[in-house]
Amino acid sequence: MWVLMYQKVVQSGPVILSTPPTLRLKRFSALLGVPMTRTSEHLTAQHTGVILFLGAPGSGKGTQSAWLSRELGIPSLSTGDMLRAEARQKTRAGLKLRKLMASGALVDDKQVCHAVSARLHRELPKHGLILDGFPRTIAQAECLDSVLSEMGLPAPLILHLDVSREKLVRRMTARRHCGRCGSIYNLLSRPSSLGERCENDGTELQQRSDDNEETIRRRFLEFDLTCAPLVEYYSKGNYHRIDGDREPEAVSADLLEIFGRGQTRAAA
Ligand code: AMP
Repeated sequence: MWVLMYQKVVQSGPVILSTPPTLRLKRFSALLGVPMTRTSEHLTAQHTGVILFLGAPGSGKGTQSAWLSRELGIPSLSTGDMLRAEARQKTRAGLKLRKLMASGALVDDKQVCHAVSARLHRELPKHGLILDGFPRTIAQAECLDSVLSEMGLPAPLILHLDVSREKLVRRMTARRHCGRCGSIYNLLSRPSSLGERCENDGTELQQRSDDNEETIRRRFLEFDLTCAPLVEYYSKGNYHRIDGDREPEAVSADLLEIFGRGQTRAAA
């Protein structure tokens, strides 16, 4: 996939941003006399803090954060994945966590904050870190703020993926993933070319145990209770609402624009 953007970059004038730099775009760049740069190189130089994805279950946080992580060359941490790994442990704590997550309830703030904070301290991000699914509550947002200020990192950049409820339920029940490599598929919008098997390694695809209608309803309830206060909490900061009711590529293109605009704004 390539993305072409014309953009007014303050010091260098217009550039073509491309991922990857295809031959066609190289010719186009030579023809117009406009320099080109890899999107990842351009973007990485701009953001060195924490990027947060806010959004209901099924809004595309996982897909977009994995994509952005590759684009920016910075790690992405999904608290859902982290907790699922803990829940797989054959211990009493693992079993308790498994039951709680299967019910669609949120895990205790203290436990999640402790794990995220430890991870941030351990892997002090060089160019930044993407958080997918954290914070989910105001207590978690406050905890993140204090960890960031303790580490001397700037306030987070917030990407809120907004998707209609009807679409979310359809997306979630059709969602599949590979238990080995973590690739995400969707029977409706992104089916695997190998049917029920992963395109990367042939592993049989799975449905998440909490992607059933009853649990989905509970997870939405949790989200409705916690999202509005979080949006309000972050709305005065570097907050961006994105229409997530579109194809993943269109959403990704909006994300690129946000980073481009961010640079123009910051440098203006
Ligand atoms: P996700 O993969 O982000 O949809 O999260 C799946 C489940 O993991 C949620 O329904 C919660 O039970 C738990 N979880 C993930 N992130 C958090 C968080 N930040 N705080 C509390 N629970 C979380």
